[in-house]
Amino acid sequence: MIQTKGYAAQSAETDLAPWNFERREVGPHDVLIDIKYCGVCHSDLHNIKNDWFPGVFPMVPGHEIVGIVSATGAHVSNFKVGERVGVGVLVDSCRHCDECNHGLEQACMISPVLTYNSIGHDGAPTYGGYSNNIVVDERFVLHVSDKLDFAAVAPLLCAGITTYSPLRNWKIGKGHKLAVVGLGGLGHMAVKFGVAFGAEVPS
Ligand SMILES: [Zn+2]
Ligand SMILES: [Zn+2]
Repeated sequence: MIQTKGYAAQSAETDLAPWNFERREVGPHDVLIDIKYCGVCHSDLHNIKNDWFPGVFPMVPGHEIVGIVSATGAHVSNFKVGERVGVGVLVDSCRHCDECNHGLEQACMISPVLTYNSIGHDGAPTYGGYSNNIVVDERFVLHVSDKLDFAAVAPLLCAGITTYSPLRNWKIGKGHKLAVVGLGGLGHMAVKFGVAFGAEVPS
């Protein structure tokens, strides 16, 4: 097993505190990531407080992860040691439903596995990015360009994609006026994307 240090909530009533735990060995299709930064999403607070559903404890939150590949499984073809990568909210899915077959694993209703507060297909709980490493199947790992500010990439893995997706879906750009209600973790991303896409974003 791989020894990992993280911050965990031992129950919905306790604060985060240092916690040592184990992750699975690097399997044939797995990537081991040395975590460099992890965004703090408000969902992390909802999860550790059981606001949405009874959580899996101890819980290590964090689903806006960026880091460097430090090991790869024998059959990993898409990643090399030393490469910059990211991991978002999902680390596995059923891989055979309609959604999975169309690249929409985030909509998988059969057996999606969240990055933390979830049970993996191996039956073990998943632990998130408030930790020093993570083991993830390469299908759920993203490439991160060397040109980008690494720390600034982390929030793109949840807040970023959540706002990028609808703005792209509705083809927001030149000639559009964009109003953003609420300037929190997601809202400020929407403003930045809107400006970058050429929309008018009144201040
Ligand atoms: Zn989030
Ligand atoms: Zn599926």
